[in-house]
Amino acid sequence: MTDTMLSESLTSARERLAAALAAAARPADDARLLAVSKTKPAHMVREAWRLGQREFGENYVQEALDKQAELTDLEGIVWHFIGPLQANKTRAVAEHFDWVHSIDRERIARRLNDQRPERLEPLDVCLQVNASGEVSKSGVGFDELESLAETVLSLPRLRLRGLMTIPAPAQELARQREPLARLRQALEALRRRFPGAPLDTLSMGMSDDLEAAVLEGATLVRLGTAIFGIRDTSRR
Ligand SMILES: *Cc1c(COP(=O)(O)O)cnc(C)c1O
Repeated sequence: MTDTMLSESLTSARERLAAALAAAARPADDARLLAVSKTKPAHMVREAWRLGQREFGENYVQEALDKQAELTDLEGIVWHFIGPLQANKTRAVAEHFDWVHSIDRERIARRLNDQRPERLEPLDVCLQVNASGEVSKSGVGFDELESLAETVLSLPRLRLRGLMTIPAPAQELARQREPLARLRQALEALRRRFPGAPLDTLSMGMSDDLEAAVLEGATLVRLGTAIFGIRDTSRR
């Protein structure tokens, strides 16, 4: 993808988010774009940053560290880890990311807390929820969510910001909205249960279901393909 194409697709993504917010009668600054740059080279991240994009999502730890090493001069860049997280990778994530969206068990949360360097701010985190109830999917179930949230809120080096989900694919808008609505309701329940916690984030909405997610209150939409083009899946 050329720089011109990236500029055009980033502009369309911004327009699409703006249109979705307007259609949902929400303020224009109520949701932000997270540019998912997994499998894409550092120079594309640099170009998106030059065009004003600041938040980037990565799924693979080593790939992300390699890219970050090339991009240390980009002021104000914010790195989000959004992929499955294994225990042996938590230290690198705790040291090199600003956010983690994929916490779905206590052990991972405790390791990130213990490994977050003192010189850095607490790590902003979301709990990943299995909102579609698919057996094979990662994410905590709704029944265990409150207990995991309580644990994470007790960890001083983590700041619990909200919930994230990757729903089962669906075509119709109404079908897309169902799991996303459940995620929104779960966040509302956590806010009532833990008043004072900084629970301001619903990380949901991808290239195929952004409109449904914005209708259901998404505050951070994660767009990969719509910004950077299709991924070469043979690399993974
Ligand atoms: C890859 C990925 C995305 C982006 O998906 P697209 O369909 O390319 O927009 C969003 N969230 C997560 C967790 C991902 O792994």
